[in-house]
Amino acid sequence: MKFTYKRRQFIRQSTYTLGSILGLEFLFSACSSAEKSSDDYQLKSCQDYSQVSESELAKRKQFAYETQASDPLKTCKDCKLFLPAMPNETCGGCSLFKGPVEVLGSCTYWAPLEA
Ligand code: SF4
Repeated sequence: MKFTYKRRQFIRQSTYTLGSILGLEFLFSACSSAEKSSDDYQLKSCQDYSQVSESELAKRKQFAYETQASDPLKTCKDCKLFLPAMPNETCGGCSLFKGPVEVLGSCTYWAPLEA
């Protein structure tokens, strides 16, 4: 079979393009599997309060913050005051006090998202 220059060039470019698409597909699938789920949060501790001031810890206590919600329907991740984790961070935050917050935690100020 005789290939002309254009045909060889086309095959080479097609191979590169296909390789690029497959490479991107692999990259995207790797990224999507790195997304966080509630289980990921559950496994990692958001209870390191070493960088949190005493006054902020007092607020946390005042609102009866608990790291594991006693009512599974009232968790921090479903609270209007929850601040989702920033990229490359594990723990979320709360608008009421500073420091890490568990997505599955809760407190007496829990407020539904749609209210
Ligand atoms: S207000 Fe309470 S339930 Fe809501 S995010 Fe803050 S700590 Fe969690």
